[in-house]
Amino acid sequence: MTSFSQFNFKDKKALVRVDFNVPLNDQFEVTDDNRMRAAIPTIKKIIADGGSVILMSHLGRPKDGPTNKYSLFHIVKHLQHLVGDDAEVFFSSDCIGETAEMAASLLEPTDILLLENLRFYKEEEKGEAAFAEKLSKLGDVYVNDAFGTAHRAHASTSIIADYFDSDKKMFGLLMESEVASAEKVMLQSEKPFTAIIGGAKVSDKILIIENLLERATDIIIGGGMAYTFWKAQGKDIGNSLCEDDRLELAATLLEKAKVKGINIHLPMDSTIADKFAADAETTNCDSGAIPTGWMGLDIGIKARADFREVIINSKTILWNGPMGVFEMEKFQAGTKAIAEAVAEATKNGAFSLVGGGDSVAAVNQFGFNDQVSYVSTGGGAMLEFFEGKELPGIAAIKK
Ligand code: AMP
Repeated sequence: MTSFSQFNFKDKKALVRVDFNVPLNDQFEVTDDNRMRAAIPTIKKIIADGGSVILMSHLGRPKDGPTNKYSLFHIVKHLQHLVGDDAEVFFSSDCIGETAEMAASLLEPTDILLLENLRFYKEEEKGEAAFAEKLSKLGDVYVNDAFGTAHRAHASTSIIADYFDSDKKMFGLLMESEVASAEKVMLQSEKPFTAIIGGAKVSDKILIIENLLERATDIIIGGGMAYTFWKAQGKDIGNSLCEDDRLELAATLLEKAKVKGINIHLPMDSTIADKFAADAETTNCDSGAIPTGWMGLDIGIKARADFREVIINSKTILWNGPMGVFEMEKFQAGTKAIAEAVAEATKNGAFSLVGGGDSVAAVNQFGFNDQVSYVSTGGGAMLEFFEGKELPGIAAIKK
């Protein structure tokens, strides 16, 4: 596989798939530019070599072709601000055809061209070869730096790679570090390897738990999904979240773990509340003896200490999903305690990877993002990777 860092982009036009699917406000200003910032090192390396950059991305989910609302033109100014004076940013109002070809042909070394939203063409999400081929004509080399869409077999994320020889396609720096971190956890994990799985629903996390049963030594289960596991063991969970159609499955997963000698840690106690609200009455209670009318909305005091003990003795940690309803102050303590423990383990030499929308939001909110080894930018992609699936965006570069 071609190494991005070792490739010399001088006089080359690099066609780079990025994930600039950023939120915009009513004035079309970028309100969270993390995804754009994440691609800047890749862009800067190409420019520093004396190459030019053609950026392709999607924005939102436009259903009926081109609309101003989903135009990437809105982010040009912000992109120029992020790259600074080293390069000039141009925009092409179409991502294929004469307009794009002309704009690409006029690029001078160190210029950047941002193409209009790929999803203005339905062919993008359908992964149509003819559309991918048209895109491929714009650049000399293809760089995929969009981990967030690596689980999609779209034209620009995977099919396009067929039109480049193996020495002309590669991961960008972001994608390289995402893949390296994920593979480190998944394929080369140092033991003990603890996976912390939280969030609302068991049904969303079944595949990841099943795959982790093959790799982890310990699995901590928190958040709303823990109560389905308690109920499966005949416990009283009051009005806590429960997926009754998954009780059998939860019991099977617990049994499988036992047979394999993997420790599953459930929260022994919970912060329970008399309603799902920020101003609810709360108290601490055994997770298996929650009174009717009350619900578990966070892991309890004992659970925090139990989980901490497991986490600080781990060498590899994967964290996906919050331990409670961390959006409300009264139910933040569990998720915060876990973030603290992960940071402590990391300081003591463990490798920790946090991924999946809500756990990433939580570590950012509590200020622990620079105290863990890696925070993944790809929610769905990261989840599918840990479910053991081959991601089309990764496979297309590697093959
Ligand atoms: P997920 O998207 O499945 O990772 O779930 C994240 C959501 O789960 C967050 O919005 C949390 O508020 C919610 N959540 C976590 N713990 C609980 C709980 N005990 N009861 C209800 N919702 C929860």
